[in-house]
Amino acid sequence: MSRTSEGSDVLVVGGGIIGLVTAWRAAQRGLRTAVVDPEPGGGAAQVAAGMLAAVTELHYGETEQTLLGLNVESARRYPAFAAELSEATGLDLGYRACGTLAVALDSDDRAHLRELHALQHKSGLDSEWLSGRECRRLEPMLAPSVRGGLRVDGDHQIDPRRLATALVAACELAGVRFHRQWAERLTVAREGARGVVLADGTGLDADQVVLAGGSLSGRLAGVPDDVLPPVRPVKGQVLRLTVPKVYAPFLSRTVRAVVRGGNLYLVPRVNGELVVGATSEELGWDTTVTAGGVYELLRDAHELVPGITELPLTETRAGLRPCSPDNAPILGPTALPGLLLATGHYRNGVLLTPVTGDSMAHVLATGALPEVARPFTPRRFDAVPAPVSVEQSV
Ligand SMILES: Cc1cc2nc3c(=O)[nH]c(=O)nc-3n(C[C@H](O)[C@H](O)[C@H](O)COP(=O)(O)OP(=O)(O)OC[C@H]3O[C@@H](n4cnc5c(N)ncnc54)[C@H](O)[C@@H]3O)c2cc1C
Repeated sequence: MSRTSEGSDVLVVGGGIIGLVTAWRAAQRGLRTAVVDPEPGGGAAQVAAGMLAAVTELHYGETEQTLLGLNVESARRYPAFAAELSEATGLDLGYRACGTLAVALDSDDRAHLRELHALQHKSGLDSEWLSGRECRRLEPMLAPSVRGGLRVDGDHQIDPRRLATALVAACELAGVRFHRQWAERLTVAREGARGVVLADGTGLDADQVVLAGGSLSGRLAGVPDDVLPPVRPVKGQVLRLTVPKVYAPFLSRTVRAVVRGGNLYLVPRVNGELVVGATSEELGWDTTVTAGGVYELLRDAHELVPGITELPLTETRAGLRPCSPDNAPILGPTALPGLLLATGHYRNGVLLTPVTGDSMAHVLATGALPEVARPFTPRRFDAVPAPVSVEQSV
């Protein structure tokens, strides 16, 4: 290490939307905050569709019910969060309260959606069952084969690229310092984490280090094995098309379906962009856009909305979702004093941005996770000690 620059109260490793919102909220609480990232505002938000889908992403299972609470809470905070961020930066985030329509293309899908509807109802969530004809009345571009669907007026969208840009600006305005480099390793003293060493050898000291490196969070050197976040990358390929004015409005809300077992969604932005996603592939850190991925997305999207083949295809891209073993985020202090995690947001990082920022700033300022975030502590992955056998214990 060549030198140590001025220390900070909080050092965030990773300037994706999760690290940025953590830094912004921490700085607002008066903590001297720095972010380390070669390209702040990059990461998965450059690829993500930006659905704020607390209701339509509901799945079965106990963890999912717990995650539902966090998702719904973050969706509830979104309007105020978006307004505050826009106001602070003067930037438009593309936040759109447009709702979502989840449709079924065959009788199996229909049965599955009916079950989802029952589960949503049981969980106290608002959604309305529509016939195929009613779906087409709402969205005339849908295929005649659509057999029914769920109208979810509370699942909105935001443009994640604009969100990331605005968070960088908000951090700068709040006095967050940016170090546009890779963090090479965590430095650990006897009492716990105490900073990082950057790629150029500079050492940065901090009272608390937040590891928010997305799918790379488990790869920072120097982090002891027992506190390394168990996060893996799940690749998603996404297409961007443009709706020419003569076709507008092509779709008026987000439309989604499960086609051949894969999640397909079409997210129409106000500026005429139509995002079509996404594949889900376990291929490590590979971000190649493949002919097969593009073909499958276009084939399935064409089945849902045949007119899509008329639109100009303007961009193809792949990104990595940071996924934890239970698909839920990992938030808060680790067993190593001074090291906290904010990662593992998987498919819902954009949705979970407001609640993550609030929760992380709270724990950084007070030492305690707020109630809403407590089930997502990193400590849930602490190794369970092996049961002691009778022979060993005597
Ligand atoms: C195809 C796709 C579609 C998606 N759609 C949606 C959606 O519709 N709705 C939704 O809510 N979510 C969606 N997501 C998920 C969402 O995008 C992610 O959960 C979220 O962006 C994760 O943000 P992050 O900041 O944790 O990680 P990342 O975006 O991965 O950012 C991590 C950052 O950390 C930096 N970093 C890592 N290691 C280091 C280091 N050692 N030193 C310095 N910097 C480091 C990286 O450079 C990067 O900028 C989607 C994701 C994908 C890929």
